Amino acid sequence: MNDSNKTFSFELFPPKTDAGADKLKQAVTELNAVEPAYFSVTYGAGGSTQERTFATVDWLRDQGIDTAPHLSCIGSDRDEILDILNRYKNQGINRVVALRGDLPSGAGLGSLSDLRYANELVALIRADLGNYFHVEVAAYPEVHPQAGNADKDLANFKRKIDAGANGAITQYFYNAEGYFDFVERCEKAGIQVPITPGIMPITNYGSLARFSDACGAEIPRWIRKRLEAYGDDLAGIRAFGEDVVTDLCERLLTAGVPGLHFYTMNQSGPTLAIWRNLKLGG
Ligand code: FAD
Repeated sequence: MNDSNKTFSFELFPPKTDAGADKLKQAVTELNAVEPAYFSVTYGAGGSTQERTFATVDWLRDQGIDTAPHLSCIGSDRDEILDILNRYKNQGINRVVALRGDLPSGAGLGSLSDLRYANELVALIRADLGNYFHVEVAAYPEVHPQAGNADKDLANFKRKIDAGANGAITQYFYNAEGYFDFVERCEKAGIQVPITPGIMPITNYGSLARFSDACGAEIPRWIRKRLEAYGDDLAGIRAFGEDVVTDLCERLLTAGVPGLHFYTMNQSGPTLAIWRNLKLGG
């Protein structure tokens, strides 16, 4: 498979403990051996992980690794956001993932921040920092859970692109058809940026099911049923999950996706197993 013109990236979250930090460093060392385009680092809404995100980003930069910090705007004011962006700029970081972030349950939008939606964050980045940053935004082939409907969600996605985003990374999905349909609708709407599938390896059924319910990602019934049947057999879940996600990635790559963004969950093993199955090199 010729994948030299595709962008492969790995997502990390900032660890909470020293043991988690050690584990992350080990995982990054192993993942970096296959030479991804960059690592992205998540950021908790309202700055809840700010120091830990900075520490992770700083460590990656010290290793000479290309890094794309996530930045969510909800719960922060303009000046705080611009300070963070300028911090990254001064470090030579030129790629960010611009997000709204998730609201604390029960909170209204108005009182929480200067910026209410991710398109406003993209507009702020372009207004204050011009084209310095390559900006990725989030996309939802299976529709964002708070969107009024699929058409409104697509129109809102387009606002982010029109505000100046260079590309998008999707929420993870296991239905390739949903992604293909979304990309087709985007093209019809005049959206031309690369829309990179987000890929979530399957390692643990319980946590995946909980997380998927919360973020609106569907686990197809046949996959749920097969995973449930494994019960506590974690090795069985991993092996089945590896097959399912490898097949998904193969389909996506064959169809010509612009790359893959792996949600590594700070573990190298599951992502690298899929990577090797795909014969992506490194
Ligand atoms: P938006 O694009 O602002 O959309 C949010 C909702 O509002 C959607 O329903 C949309 O249809 C609607 N909407 C958008 N614009 C408007 C408008 N102008 N008027 C009316 N409605 C509008 N969360 C974190 O906290 N930290 C992270 O690091 C993080 N990383 C992520 C990375 C990826 C690749 C993805 C897919 C998600 C990530 N998330 C992260 C989760 C994300 O913050 C949540 O899904 C959040 O609920 C929406 O963020 P958004 O940037 O997509 O929001």
